[in-house]
This record gives sequence, structure tokens and C-alpha cells, in this order.
Amino acid sequence: MSTIELSKRQQHILSIVKEFGPITGEQIAEKLSLSRAALRPDLAILTMSGLLGARPRVGYYLTGKTPSDVIAGVLGNIKVVQLQSQPVAVKNTCSVYDAIVTMFVEDVGTLVVITADGYLEGLVSRKDMLKATLAGSNLNTLPVNVTMTRMPNIVVTYPDESILVAAKKLLSHQIDSLPVVNIVDVEGVEKYQVIGRFTKTNITRLFVQLVGK
Ligand code: ADP
Repeated sequence: MSTIELSKRQQHILSIVKEFGPITGEQIAEKLSLSRAALRPDLAILTMSGLLGARPRVGYYLTGKTPSDVIAGVLGNIKVVQLQSQPVAVKNTCSVYDAIVTMFVEDVGTLVVITADGYLEGLVSRKDMLKATLAGSNLNTLPVNVTMTRMPNIVVTYPDESILVAAKKLLSHQIDSLPVVNIVDVEGVEKYQVIGRFTKTNITRLFVQLVGK
């Protein structure tokens, strides 16, 4: 994947193509007083990033895509399954105390709460734990499902959903993570099987990888 940041020479190439395109690589090289070979990496980056199109015997032309179209194209093509982390689950009978310990041990901010047969029932975040603590309840006996956010109010994502759609869900619902689920039919009832965890950290990691520096 290429970086979106363009060098001075790449910007110069774009302005030449804008003025003279369609134009061959030879002709661009001539205008820049460079060899065709020296230009090849820049042309490759510009075509791979979608800013330039290339047609045999015709030459290079501007696709008309803006850098933000290109970014949207890259992000829109990456699926949740490519970035997701492992889910961390506790049973609905787990105590708030044990759920807090699990958060520390697994180093996560959100736990999914599952039914005895393993399907998504709810989700607890750090704030949910703080709420239970402030209420002065006995954390050893209080089951986690008393303080969780429960179905059907859980915002989920799917393995083949675009990360752009998933990221918009995180923002619009002001939450840190989404369970990644497969929908299964259990005797006519739709249930969610949790197969991953999509978080703000996944997006931050991608952001750094894309820049590649
Ligand atoms: P934190 O509590 O660490 O700030 P969040 O901002 O993710 O974490 O959680 C805020 C509230 O939103 C909590 O009550 C939590 O249960 C709920 N919540 C978190 N993730 C989801 C989700 N995917 N769907 C629905 N509610 C969620």
C-alpha cells in the first residue's frame, strides 16, 4: 500500500499530466529532463494510488480522484476481519469483581458477556465497572450482567464489513469497541456468535502502518 503524501516531483508530474495529458511517460520525462527509468517509481506510485490512470499507447491521464477519494478507496476496501483483535469474553454469571480482574489480566477495556451456550448477551466497559463500584454493591456477588449494556442495544460489526463503516459506528455511538459477530440461526432465533473485537486501537495501528514511517 502506498503512502498518500506526495513528493515535490510527484506533484510536478501531476501538474504536467493535468496540463498536457494524455501524455506518455517519455514525454513527461523529457519535460522534467529525466530519464524514463528514473521516473518509473513515481509513475508507479501515482497510478497505484489511483491519482493517475494509464492507457497503453495513449499515456497517462488524471483520474480526477482527490486524495480523500483515494483514502476512502483504500479504507473502504479493508475489511474488519483484516484488523480485528481477539475477543475477550466472560460468562453472564461472572461477578463484577472477576470481570474487573479479567480486564486487567487480558489488558482490554471492554469485555463481551456471553450466555451459557456461548452467544452474545451484552458488553461491559470500564465505565460500567466504575458505576457498579460507585453504587457500593458487593462486587464479589454482583453478576456482571446487572451492569452491562445488553442486547438488542449492542452495536456490532461483521467480518466482511468495511472498516470505514465500522469506524463510523464507533464515532457515532461514542464507544471504544464493537464485537465482530457472525449471525447464526438457532431454532429460528437469530443469535450472535462473537468472533472478534474491533477497536480504536485497530484503527490507530492501521493509520501508522499506512504511513509506513
Ligand atoms: P469506557 O467505559 O471505557 O469509556 P465505552 O465508551 O466504549 O468505554 O463505553 C461507554 C458505554 O457504552 C458503556 O456503558 C458501554 O457498556 C457501552 N458500550 C460500549 N461498547 C458498546 C457497543 N459496541 N454497543 C453498545 N454499547 C456499547
